[in-house]
Amino acid sequence: MCVPQTFEVLGRIPRREFLKLATTSAAAMAISGAGLLTSATPAQARTITYTNIADLTHVLNSAFPRYNPDLFKAFERTNLVTIQKNGFYANNWSLPEHIGTHMDAPQHFVLGRWMLHQIPIRSLIAPAVVIHIHERAAANPDAQVTVDDLKAWENRYGRIPEGAAVLMHSGWESRVGDQNAYRNPDSKGVMHFPGFHPEAAEFLIKERDIVGIGVDTLSLDYGPSSDFKTHITVLGANKWGLENLANLAKIPPNGATIFVGALKVQNASGGPLRVIAVW
Ligand SMILES: [Zn+2]
Repeated sequence: MCVPQTFEVLGRIPRREFLKLATTSAAAMAISGAGLLTSATPAQARTITYTNIADLTHVLNSAFPRYNPDLFKAFERTNLVTIQKNGFYANNWSLPEHIGTHMDAPQHFVLGRWMLHQIPIRSLIAPAVVIHIHERAAANPDAQVTVDDLKAWENRYGRIPEGAAVLMHSGWESRVGDQNAYRNPDSKGVMHFPGFHPEAAEFLIKERDIVGIGVDTLSLDYGPSSDFKTHITVLGANKWGLENLANLAKIPPNGATIFVGALKVQNASGGPLRVIAVW
């Protein structure tokens, strides 16, 4: 068999992927034309075809809610030049890393793990698993994704695929235009919004093979958390987290692929990004 030998030669490519875009077959031909990928074992090739596309990203502007408004300043756009006056249009931005739809890089919570510029691109194209807890969250803002929720998904759709991004849909995005409603603090200032239960995070890290998790709220951990155990469990395993995702109700619970457009900013703990789902 020549396949294992090929693997040895290409030892830095553990799993080959063949990206076939339905709308641009030329791109696919260009990839196969390189000759490297055409000999990939069929079982390990991954084909992505799609007819639907959704943007899982919120618009970022100065009103976007922040987890800790004292620490994280608002996004600011300052105009530098205009077409009318200067012939071209450009602005300066000032922003914290954790604003808008953004990624938490593993080193956001755990020393020695990847920072934003170090995240392997292989993890940035992933099958999306959407866990719906919006009905529970409507009645209880402290609702969390549990191991039972993950197992219920698997009972219906099969085992969480290798390399998956597991995403919580709590319906919280309907509040995103109102910082107070989105943070939802009680009289003591403790926030109440949904997130992943630490046991669910541990299950995904220890029992499944994921690239990251995502939420449609301000934090991977639910609002009242003070130990950030879900963050530490997921990021500590060099998996990324996505926060403030949008439109998760518009994509199928199983079968979509997400493209996670993380920025390549040196030594960043995270940063805004564009997330696109296709299916
Ligand atoms: Zn963050």
